[in-house]
Parts: sequence; C-alpha cells; structure tokens
Amino acid sequence: MAQLSDDCFAFGGPLMSVDEAVGIIAARVKPVQEVESVPLMEADGRILAADISAPLPLPPFTNSAVDGYAVRSGDLPRHGEQAFAVTGRVQAGASVRQPIEPGHAVRIFTGAPMPEGADTVFMQEDVRLDEAGKVVLPPGLKPGANVRPAGEDIPFGHAALKAGQRLRPQDAALAAAFGLTEIEVIRRIRVAVFSTGDELVSPGSPRAAAQLFDSNRIMLMAMLARLGCVVSDLGIIRDDRASLAAGLKKVADAHDLILTTGGVSTGEEDHVKAAVESVGTLVLWRMAIKPGRPVGMGIIGGTPCIGLPGNPVASFVTFVHVVRPTVLALAGAIQQKLVPMPVRAAFTYKKKIARREYVRVVLSKGADGVLEATKFPREGAGLLSSLVDTDGLVELGEEVTQVEPGQTVGFLSYASLL
Ligand code: AMP
Ligand code: MG
Repeated sequence: MAQLSDDCFAFGGPLMSVDEAVGIIAARVKPVQEVESVPLMEADGRILAADISAPLPLPPFTNSAVDGYAVRSGDLPRHGEQAFAVTGRVQAGASVRQPIEPGHAVRIFTGAPMPEGADTVFMQEDVRLDEAGKVVLPPGLKPGANVRPAGEDIPFGHAALKAGQRLRPQDAALAAAFGLTEIEVIRRIRVAVFSTGDELVSPGSPRAAAQLFDSNRIMLMAMLARLGCVVSDLGIIRDDRASLAAGLKKVADAHDLILTTGGVSTGEEDHVKAAVESVGTLVLWRMAIKPGRPVGMGIIGGTPCIGLPGNPVASFVTFVHVVRPTVLALAGAIQQKLVPMPVRAAFTYKKKIARREYVRVVLSKGADGVLEATKFPREGAGLLSSLVDTDGLVELGEEVTQVEPGQTVGFLSYASLL
C-alpha cells in the first residue's frame, strides 16, 4: 500500500522539532482513497469521505417552539389584553394545516406545523381562558415570537458536514435528521503493531524472573482503536535485526502503517533503526521531545513505519505527536490541532531550551476556583502509574526554560488526545 513516496528524505540534524516532524508527516503521507458505506449507527469516529449537503431544510417546515396559541401578527393586541376565539387545534405530527381565520387563535403544541397565515405563538403560561372559553392574550409580544421557521437551523443545500470530518454522535444525528440511513466514510486504516524486546512476554504466557509483561502493545492498540483503526496484533519480536527486518517486510504490504515499540534507542540491543534501513528508508529520527526522544519513522515499500520508544510514557507521548497525525493523514482527515487549555501551574519545573516537554499532571480547582495543574511527583518515563493517576499533559514549548507556580501553562486532557 503506497502511502509515502519512497524517495530518500535526508533528515536534517540529530534532533528534529515536533512541528517539523508533523510537517513531514503531513507532506509525505498519502491518504487512502477507498470509501465504504456504513449504517449511521456505525458512523461514530469514522472519517467522512465527501461533503454532505442538506437535502432538506431543518426544520423541514415552520413550527411552534412552545405549547400555546398561534395567531397572526397583524392581530397582536397592542394596548391591552384581548380575548380571541380559539378555532382549531394542531398537534405535533398533524398533517392538516387549516388556514387561521383573522382575529382567531389556534391551540398549538411544540413541534406542530404553523397554520397557514399564523406567524406568532403565545406560550400557554402567558395566557388565560375566560368564562366564554376564549383565550385572553396580553399585549407586548413580538411578531414571529416562539416560531421556528423552516431552515432556521440549516438551509436547504448547505454543506452541513465536510469531507475529512471525524464524525461524532451529533454529526450522525444531523445525517439522521436529513433522513440518511448510511454514510460514505474512508475505510478504516490498517495498522500492524508489534513490540520488540527480549525481556517482554505477553500476558497469559509464563514470565521468567527478568521478564516483564508487555504493556505498551495493549495501550497502543487501544489508542489506535480509538482513532478508528483496524489493528493487527503481531506480538513480540526479539531484539534481533534480521527478525525485525523480516517482520517489518512481511506486514508492509497488507497494512497502511506499521507501529513498533521498543528498540529505537542507540544501545547495542536497539535494532529497529537498522532493521528499517535494511528494508526501507528512514524519514525521521530522534525528535526534540521529552518524554520520547528516540522515535523514528521510515518507509517500507511505501508503507510508513513508526518506531516508538519502549518506555511507556515516552511511547504514549510520541504516539500522540507522531502516530496520531499519521493516522489522521492516512484517513484524509482534517487535522484536528491539539489546543492546550490555559490552567495555572502548581509546580516548579526546569527544562532545556529547544525541546518540547510534556509534564504529567492532575487537574483540580484552586481555593479561588481557578483550574490548577499539579505535577505527578515522580518523572520517570517508565512509570505507568504516572499515566494512570493523572488527567493529562502540560505542554511546555521549545522556548520555555522554567515554570514557576502561578504561571499559566497549556493543559491537554487525555480525553482530548484521542
Ligand atoms: P527500549 O526502548 O527497548 O530501550 O526500552 C526502554 C524501556 O522500556 C525498557 O525498560 C523496556 O523494558 C521497556 N519496554 C520496552 N518495551 C516495552 C513494552 N512493550 N511494554 C512495557 N515496557 C516496555
Ligand atoms: Mg529494548
């Protein structure tokens, strides 16, 4: 599956900035073109393949916004209360639309079509009935009050949903309001995932004393699933260049993206980089990001391959900045830029200039009601508890060198990242 052109990209310098890496991904990843039709109930989270223009206005007909009495605006009482004979009754769903008689009121309910000629509705709470059964209407109501004109929500023909949009429940609701039963979406992105490391065993297998259960793979697969991908679980590959190279080559054709975790550092037992280079081309290597630094991207037979670090927190953070934009680019999605929310730092922090850093924090309300980010007490990139026990990441830009308590910082909730 050729998503990336194979011509060699000369990576410039040892540490690439996050923005530069994202720029390369956007420029080089070719979106898949295959489209499929899915029932509305399965549309949530999928990427819309083509614009959807309103095949009918919403609401489709002018109707009452309240339970009450419909009148003609020309008949509205001007100076004092006025009694109107009530002729007719229209419920929601009623198909008969008797024209209103001048000087009369029509009993009407929320969602019911306006009788021809009527254009204003009194709320039932604002009126009373007199002994003769007439409705007594007060003065002062504006012409057109409490009426929802046809098309006030969405006019006929309006491009209401856009190609590349990642559909949410409310988007599916809009398609349903248009009467659609199916929707055209980009087919799911197929991602092959494997872990690398001689120390890893899968949960369910016996674990030797110096081994640990592979946790990254399940985290990454769950993150990919949230991004709407179909995931192939390829298990664990040993720390061996030939096995890695063979594994990468074998799955490249049948997938849109290959994701690995572990073995991307520069230690003697880190073989992912060499394996990628032996069967494909390296596109980016080492980003100026913490946690994360070693993270690589290559192209194998046209299929992008991303090597994430093995430390769980580094793996998580680099997933957000490299894998997420790649998956969205493959799906032709409008890139949803992560917008950090301003919060008050309740911690001190020092960092290197020219490197993007992410601090794991818990969010809470300060005594004055302002949202405050408290740093997780320990910093290790291997601490899974630091992801489990926090609410999100504070983003510290390349230019920042220190943070003092009380300073405003940008917060990204975990929920907003996927
Ligand atoms: P590496 O990137 O291979 O140097 O690994 C860095 C650290 O992350 C080591 O302590 C590994 O044991 C650990 N690690 C690597 N892969 C995984 C994984 N899939 N799940 C949990 N920890 C891992
Ligand atoms: Mg390793």
